[in-house]
Amino acid sequence: MFQTKHALRVIFLGTGTSQGIPVIGSTHPVCLSENPKDKRLRVSVLVEWNNYTYVIDCGPDFRQQMLNAKRTKLGGIVFTHEHTDHTAGLDDIRSFYFNHGDIPNYGHKRVLKALSKRFDYIFETVNKYAGAPGVIPIPIENKPFRLGDLEVMPINGLHHKLQVFGFRFGDFAYLTDMKTIKNSEIKKLKNVKILVVNALREAEHISHFNLEEALALIKKVQPERAYLTHISHMLGFHDDVEKKLPANVFLAYDNLEINL
Ligand SMILES: [Zn+2]
Ligand SMILES: [Zn+2]
Repeated sequence: MFQTKHALRVIFLGTGTSQGIPVIGSTHPVCLSENPKDKRLRVSVLVEWNNYTYVIDCGPDFRQQMLNAKRTKLGGIVFTHEHTDHTAGLDDIRSFYFNHGDIPNYGHKRVLKALSKRFDYIFETVNKYAGAPGVIPIPIENKPFRLGDLEVMPINGLHHKLQVFGFRFGDFAYLTDMKTIKNSEIKKLKNVKILVVNALREAEHISHFNLEEALALIKKVQPERAYLTHISHMLGFHDDVEKKLPANVFLAYDNLEINL
């Protein structure tokens, strides 16, 4: 039997929306901010326990994120959905692949299919180019699956009309790119200690929670602490926004580490 509880370490590798902050060419004050907490790579988290290291999503900043995190091995990548800001870094698994072989890729079968089209040379099995990395595609459904010796619970949601998975690792749950989530899925978050939720900006958005919607979900779930991620420069300066949040809610920032 595998266990459902472990001492986890979570590192926010990136906390920005699809363009990151600063946005290229932008003169918005938040994009010009000198505060390191206002600089956000594309969203991803590293989740670690015992000798296991996984990342959720693998966006265009993956290389820089792995250099920042100084990790030498990777147990696998768990994908929330197929959007480019969550997948574009897949080619850079090469160093891990050369170190220790094929990298397991977990995701909805639709997501794995999209990846195999976009990165056909990585998923190729016949006459594969020798310099290409290798992956082991592992389809997941909306039921618990095993990562190392830990049971992970998917949390199903909608990103406008696109299905997305959030994930619960023991006392930690990570939801990003969600706009709607059924009550039956919210129930899976019961008694979670740390909840991460996407919160794009104050104005409404068709496919992402805005700040108000993220806070409403947090109020329903009542975690000990919640962190907001997938943040647009339009949400405002990190330090200003954080002052307005409830006492148990914080803005995540790049390289933030949580141990639980
Ligand atoms: Zn996204
Ligand atoms: Zn998305």
